[in-house]
Amino acid sequence: MEGHGGIEVIIQNERDKTAPRCPHGPALLFEKTGNGEEKGRRFYACSACRDRKDCNFFQWADEQISEARMLAREEQNRSKMPLFSHQEYSSRFRAFVSLPLEQRRFCVDCQLLILPGERANHEKHKALSEDTTVQRLKRPSLLLCPLENKKSNAQYLFADRSCHFLLDMLLGLGFQNILCVGTPRLHEVIKLRNMEGKSPKMKSLLLDIDYRYCQFYGQDEFCLYNMFNHHFFDDEEAVTFFQDFLREEGGAKVVMITDPPFGGLVKPLANSFSQMAITWKNQNKGQMPMIWIFPYFFESRILECFPSFSMLDYQVDYDNHPLYKHGKTGRKQSPVRLFTNLSPKDIILPEDEGYRFCSVCERYVSAGNKHCPKCDTCPSKDGREWRHCDECGRCVKPSWRHCSSCGHCALPDHPCGQSQTGCFNCGSQKHKLRACPKKHNKRKNEENDKEKDIRCKHCDLVNITFCLRSHIYLL
Ligand code: SAH
Ligand code: ZN
Ligand code: ZN
Ligand code: ZN
Ligand code: ZN
Repeated sequence: MEGHGGIEVIIQNERDKTAPRCPHGPALLFEKTGNGEEKGRRFYACSACRDRKDCNFFQWADEQISEARMLAREEQNRSKMPLFSHQEYSSRFRAFVSLPLEQRRFCVDCQLLILPGERANHEKHKALSEDTTVQRLKRPSLLLCPLENKKSNAQYLFADRSCHFLLDMLLGLGFQNILCVGTPRLHEVIKLRNMEGKSPKMKSLLLDIDYRYCQFYGQDEFCLYNMFNHHFFDDEEAVTFFQDFLREEGGAKVVMITDPPFGGLVKPLANSFSQMAITWKNQNKGQMPMIWIFPYFFESRILECFPSFSMLDYQVDYDNHPLYKHGKTGRKQSPVRLFTNLSPKDIILPEDEGYRFCSVCERYVSAGNKHCPKCDTCPSKDGREWRHCDECGRCVKPSWRHCSSCGHCALPDHPCGQSQTGCFNCGSQKHKLRACPKKHNKRKNEENDKEKDIRCKHCDLVNITFCLRSHIYLL
């Protein structure tokens, strides 16, 4: 069960074939768990969009859909398709680069490279004309506006520092074929590095839902893909490119690296990545090497799905992220980490950023992460030095103090005494902490570790998965 909003995702691959489709491919099946024992009602909702404004697809699982409504839905799905097919986008790109510089226009409003005959349609739009040099076209992530306002598709681009760290590390481990899932900046940097010729060549296949990239990358290096339902939009053709990529040289040099939107649900993501691993496994033994980039407070959820993964201390940096920037500005430190089935001891974290090797844990840890002999681990998740609390029997954040009335460590200004009227752990008024059914949940501790609760602005509940008022996915 994901979150405590009473909404659970049901993963049923066979059923996906019969799942109704929205413009984002097969919808996901959810169960709204009722109070007590009774079985909850199931419904389908869009897999990709958390904001109803982006996709309002909703259908009760037991609902009968009339033929008329079905047809209207298919029509709606067609109307939401990108303006051009991938092939058309590719030939437009060839036409575009053959234009003299002064005739090249990029429409900022439409996020589209426009050809001379189309200029009239974009007359009232904002256009870039000076800057569409070949050099610029090699960095589409700089030309396109990051999709940052839309909740469902927030695009946070890696800082160069993190791109080069990742690529050098992967090269060092012998990987040369990188499956980039939702990492357009990484794909771009791989291509740039190949052109510069300073480091060994790498191959990259980008899978992403952002169709604007069809303008810049051909079908052999970019598949329009939804990572929440493992859906390829150009069905057969794209699937072939994907399978060929995984099979190249027997797949021995392939590693998958993904940086999903942080609002995404963990279970459907893990299911998609497992499907990829199955395709890869047709050729190989063992597990497909994977790196899943996600905030540290999702650790237990990811490990629930992939028990063989470990979380590394490396803090991933972003360029345009208002909160997660490296250094003194913005937030103190990035909460975004690498989760991987590669062996942690092989992943050498940069010494000049303070990381060092813990020989007991056999992995590289952040500067402030001191090994605790009592916990027998380097316990810090956020990079700060944690402190062992004997009463709690575990290490806690440095800002926490042991509270004897709550019986555990908490922030000094925690809502103490509120547990008098209800449960400190889950907030329920029906039982006390002692009787809390969720008390043994390791995940709860981690959620307490978050800097701040996430409050839904529609229904005002905290840390829920799905807002029943606006049908928005939240965590
Ligand atoms: N740090 C990465 C970008 C991560 S932002 C980089 O610098 O390359 C998340 C990415 O996932 C975006 O590129 C976004 O377009 C993509 N994305 C969002 N929802 C998706 C979905 N449902 N399926 C596939 N990709 C998705
Ligand atoms: Zn250690
Ligand atoms: Zn400890
Ligand atoms: Zn304590
Ligand atoms: Zn809400």
